[in-house]
Amino acid sequence: MKCPKCHTEPMDKVNYGREYTVYRCNNCYGLWFPADSYKKLREEWMGHFMDIGDPRIGKQYNQKTDILSPVTGKPMQVVYDQKQPHIQYEIDVDGHGAFFDAGEYRDYVEETLSDFFKSFFAVAARKLTR
Ligand SMILES: [Zn+2]
Repeated sequence: MKCPKCHTEPMDKVNYGREYTVYRCNNCYGLWFPADSYKKLREEWMGHFMDIGDPRIGKQYNQKTDILSPVTGKPMQVVYDQKQPHIQYEIDVDGHGAFFDAGEYRDYVEETLSDFFKSFFAVAARKLTR
């Protein structure tokens, strides 16, 4: 697999458990998640450990949005996270996967985590005041 952002190849295969294989570029540290594994890993609050790149470098690569799918070669679609519009990633229009720049996936997963803790502490605080 060739990195759709900086064209380094091959990307490193990173296995996450038995179910997931993610591809990580060893130049820009962007992550390619096959199919919808990025959503599944987010639901399980996993995968952010694979995002080891420098977010400052990720921000630079984030400017480059005219990228082609490493699977089909078609232009990828830029999407913004609904809750965190500063997170902008690219998806394969045929559902083959999604690309996150360095640091973006951590941010994407942590929003879910922080929502959880906010609601958890809100409930705990309500219980304490009773
Ligand atoms: Zn790259």
